[in-house]
Amino acid sequence: MELDDLWPVGARLDQSGELWLGGCAASTLAEGLDTPLYVFDEATLHDRASAYREALLRHYPGVARTAYAAKAYLCLEIARIFAEEGLDLDVVSGGELFVALRAGFPAGRINFHGNNKSRAELAQAIDSGVGRIVVDNFAELKTLIELAGSRGVSRLPVWLRLSPGIQAHTHTHIQTGHLDSKFGFPIETGDAEAAVVLAMASAVLELVGLHAHIGSQIYDAGALAAAAGRIAGFAAEMGRHLGFQLQELSPGGGWGVRMTDADPAAPIELYVAAVAGAVTGACRSAGLKLPRLILEPGRSLIAQAGVALYRVGARKEISGVRTFVSVDGGIADNIRPALYGASYTAIGLRSSGNSTSPPTGAAPQKDPERIQPLERVTISGKFCESGDVLIRDIDLPRLEPGDLLAVPMAGAYTLSMASNYNMAPRPAAVLVGGGSARVIQRRERYADLVARDLTTGRRSGAFFRKYQALGNDYIVLDPVDWPEPPDEREIQRICDRHRGVGADGILWGPTARCQPFGLRLFNPDGSECETSGNGLRIFARYLWETGLSGAPAFAIASPAGVVVAHVLDQEGGSIAIEMGRLSFDSDAIPVSGPPREVIGEELIVDGRRVIINAATIGNPHCVVFLEEIAAGSWPDEARRAAHELGPHLERHPMFASRTNVQFARAVDRHTVQIEIWERGAGYTLASGTSSCAAAGIAIKTGRCESPVTVSMPGGSMLVEVDASWAVRLTGPVTTVCTGEILENS
Ligand code: PLP
Repeated sequence: MELDDLWPVGARLDQSGELWLGGCAASTLAEGLDTPLYVFDEATLHDRASAYREALLRHYPGVARTAYAAKAYLCLEIARIFAEEGLDLDVVSGGELFVALRAGFPAGRINFHGNNKSRAELAQAIDSGVGRIVVDNFAELKTLIELAGSRGVSRLPVWLRLSPGIQAHTHTHIQTGHLDSKFGFPIETGDAEAAVVLAMASAVLELVGLHAHIGSQIYDAGALAAAAGRIAGFAAEMGRHLGFQLQELSPGGGWGVRMTDADPAAPIELYVAAVAGAVTGACRSAGLKLPRLILEPGRSLIAQAGVALYRVGARKEISGVRTFVSVDGGIADNIRPALYGASYTAIGLRSSGNSTSPPTGAAPQKDPERIQPLERVTISGKFCESGDVLIRDIDLPRLEPGDLLAVPMAGAYTLSMASNYNMAPRPAAVLVGGGSARVIQRRERYADLVARDLTTGRRSGAFFRKYQALGNDYIVLDPVDWPEPPDEREIQRICDRHRGVGADGILWGPTARCQPFGLRLFNPDGSECETSGNGLRIFARYLWETGLSGAPAFAIASPAGVVVAHVLDQEGGSIAIEMGRLSFDSDAIPVSGPPREVIGEELIVDGRRVIINAATIGNPHCVVFLEEIAAGSWPDEARRAAHELGPHLERHPMFASRTNVQFARAVDRHTVQIEIWERGAGYTLASGTSSCAAAGIAIKTGRCESPVTVSMPGGSMLVEVDASWAVRLTGPVTTVCTGEILENS
């Protein structure tokens, strides 16, 4: 049976009682992915986006755009889908902006709203180049002018949010366009005009548009059209008073969706036609050029795509009063019924006997147990609030523990408002389409519940993340989980590939959760080291991936000094580090003896004559060109030298802090090959600072010129060196795993 427009496109119930969403059986999804589960149907997302696009084409003679209001629900995949649909995006916080940018949403198509944006959020919006900043109040106008001015930005495109004095017929908590509202500049009081004057007078802002949003879940297209007309009218007035020219008009979002059979139909076409008509009419009668029209729907784009699946638990029958049927979710994943009385409907699905393949032409067996009398129940959640009620008084066939409950129209303002109340892990979201399902947001784990906690008592959980860069693997231990770095013995155990996780070293940080992000590095033998090129890139990826870094360029402070990291792609898969300056000064490296540059010095090591070159880039390096000491073939001879001479050179008395050692050869003017013996670690496949030192010495000795690709057994890195010996190191980083380190028992 095809379901109605409360359900995703193509949703159906077969005769055995199975619910099919995007060609996937709801019971199989719930079984495999656990409940509560939010199922999003991809076809419905595309369908709603095209409904807006086509309606605007039909009804608005000017240029028009649809911007998805991310607050309804945002995760990387939803942002990606709507970006591909060509929609714009409305964000209201630094967090939403961060997620959108992380998803690769083009910054120029993002509008930044909000009634109390912080200075940091405004700076973030300017620096990331969002398309429009929607100014809500005078304080913000002032801060924005100051921030744009201090950055040398000119003509920063802004809209002003107006409070048009129109009361929408919806719940008071979701009314926003009336005078007594925290949002926007009221037209009625003259504040809106004063804001236009200030914005137009600013040399750094360009007032390109006006915006209003009168509320949400509005079925009265007339009210939304009136607000749009009111903005156009105000623009015309400002044109007459101040010479203002309206280029863009955004009447917000707010178009309602049908939540239950009791609600009126709410076709997108009706809303778009009304708003487009009002704007066209108002502009024509005032002699205004038609502005670009930007609609900002949230719920009407995504609500219908989402279905929440819950597992039924306890029943409580209070004779003559009410029957409560409790499910395994509630107020923590969907606060809307409690917050503003939102209504939902639902269907029950039997726990067993459902078919597991899509309905075919042949009629499946009718299940006699499904034909049951209806009972009136209240669907309650599992949280410790009496108000934790999802649906009050719904008539459903009798639900038993273990049955499933499917709640449609659950895509909007559910997960985006979800909390960890009662320490509930937030549910997973799965995208379905064409018979396959893909998790787009994993269920939270218990470990996530303590991931941010800091405690002076027992460790909150010995979590780690492991990455590798060209075969160099490092474990990142965050002070949130490891208030102190592990001691020497523990480091040895963790890095031991037989008894521990196995790694070339430990990165402990960030020691401060702001720039420069402090980092301490440890060798697998437990000794501390000053820096590591691969370690820095891995740490940069960690900071980016966990959202701590915010921007893609940021400073990291290791004991060797402060470096700047640049994340070059969205995932953090390619990272460049401005490593600072190479030095060949013996005191800086350090090398004993009189102050000098240690280039081409002869040394007897283990009875063999070796020509060494030394440099530091925060840690000491000794580079030996193979052709100067041996005749054998590459890489065998170099590898042998690394194993035989490396340990002696590392601990040679002339290197007071020991040294890293590279055996090198210049292949051409821009390529060097190296084999590495690393201080405290032994033979390794790759090393960032070794690449810098080898490239620098190859340049210093006239063998190469910048840029130099340094090739190692683990892969290659690009080393760029300028005339002042400042080095930029670029190379890949990939994730390996995350986990928890257990006590040794
Ligand atoms: N635009 C703005 C400024 C909003 O505040 C909201 C919702 O609060 C929306 C758009 C989206 O509203 P809806 O999801 O009801 O379409």
